[in-house]
Amino acid sequence: MMINKTELKLLATALRKLESGYSELPEFVPEFDEAALSAVLDEVAERMQDNYPYFHPQYAGQMLKPPHPVARIAYALSLWVNPNNHALDGGRASSAMEKECIVELATMFGWDNPLGHLTGGGTMANLEALWVAGRLHPGKRVIASEQAHYTHRRISEVLGIPFSSVAVSRDGRMDVDAVEQLLQAGDVGTIVVTMGNTGLGAVDPLPEILRLRITHDFRIHADAAYGGYFGLSAGLRNDTRQAYDDLTNVESIVIDPHKHGLQPYGCGCVLFKDPAVGSFYKHESPFTYFSSAELHLGEISLECSRPGASAVALWATQRLMPLLKGGEFAAGLDSCLAAAREFHSRLQASEHFLPLMQPELDIVVYAVDAPDTETASARARQVFNDTASRGLHLAMIELPAALVVEWLPQMAENSATVTCLRSVLMKPEHADWLDEIVAILNTCAALATDTEAASCPE
Ligand SMILES: *Cc1c(COP(=O)(O)O)cnc(C)c1O
Repeated sequence: MMINKTELKLLATALRKLESGYSELPEFVPEFDEAALSAVLDEVAERMQDNYPYFHPQYAGQMLKPPHPVARIAYALSLWVNPNNHALDGGRASSAMEKECIVELATMFGWDNPLGHLTGGGTMANLEALWVAGRLHPGKRVIASEQAHYTHRRISEVLGIPFSSVAVSRDGRMDVDAVEQLLQAGDVGTIVVTMGNTGLGAVDPLPEILRLRITHDFRIHADAAYGGYFGLSAGLRNDTRQAYDDLTNVESIVIDPHKHGLQPYGCGCVLFKDPAVGSFYKHESPFTYFSSAELHLGEISLECSRPGASAVALWATQRLMPLLKGGEFAAGLDSCLAAAREFHSRLQASEHFLPLMQPELDIVVYAVDAPDTETASARARQVFNDTASRGLHLAMIELPAALVVEWLPQMAENSATVTCLRSVLMKPEHADWLDEIVAILNTCAALATDTEAASCPE
């Protein structure tokens, strides 16, 4: 069920083709003890069974999306060469493929001459963007919303840049009035605008933030690690659409192909609109640049060795499904958006659940109905466990009670935070599995209330 056997056939065929390119070399075949490998691999496969079924549509929890088969196959194929995209010496073909991917990713944001490269993930990509931001605005502050990724504060700490977080409005977006207040102090160098925050999927109001630049001077970095691809979708709300269209006006963008881009882990990306920031990366290494005078990816990256495999997998995916509005890849995103909206309305119709804000992207956050926030939290934890035992896997999010009761004023506030359930419906197939998902949820929520009644006889 997890494996389409055709994948293995396609990999074998592609490997033979790859091998034929090296047929001039004298015969050399790596040797190993088949029985020993087989025994270890059997053990590995058994150990790996202790994972949630991330590949399955009934995994509707964290931000985990299986790679596309073409990405998985291309990644595996490249491992027989094992290119290193630090320099052309280590990965000539895969470096060229990486540069092509970068151009296509930047084109999605309306940029035609970007500087950028793949990274180990969004955190490393954000680190590079904030490092450059700090070099351009030395001593000045970085600000990001309370719902921005937790790593921005820590990255700023690592870089020695002062950091402040900004309040969010009840829809989870950065509060523009609060931003304006912080700007009064005159020490803000960079605003991190999150295009789809990890907890709630809310998109910060980029058009309003841009307007603040009429009276204030600051740099904008867009953290679009999770939400970056949604600009291709035809299903965005108008205000969200406007924010995505404005990405062309920011200075740097982070997007994670390993989030919504159908890639295996280890694939983030940082893009700079002005290629001149490449000069900050200048360094002199005595041993890395022998094969060409051309710019190496290693000269514009903080990391040295990087997996060429990531570039190969991403290139294959973008080749199969170009990043175009109206294309197959965009249709997958439309399906996720539609699934999230439909899920929200089914939860609203259920007597057991109280969804919070309308999903702006494909994340749905919902409380379990209860008279007060403490009971709602306990029920959410029970539903989380009970659904898992029935093969439905959710995530939980701890939200400030003040935010939750703005949506659910009928709930008495008797705790500082509320445990809510959270589902990232980031597989296009989720749209077809809502019946199963909602049925299990309702069964488990009814059980959660029943067992409570049974355990507190009155
Ligand atoms: C996931 C995420 C990150 C961190 O990216 P990693 O790839 O996990 O390192 C940063 N920002 C946002 C908005 C994210 O969703």
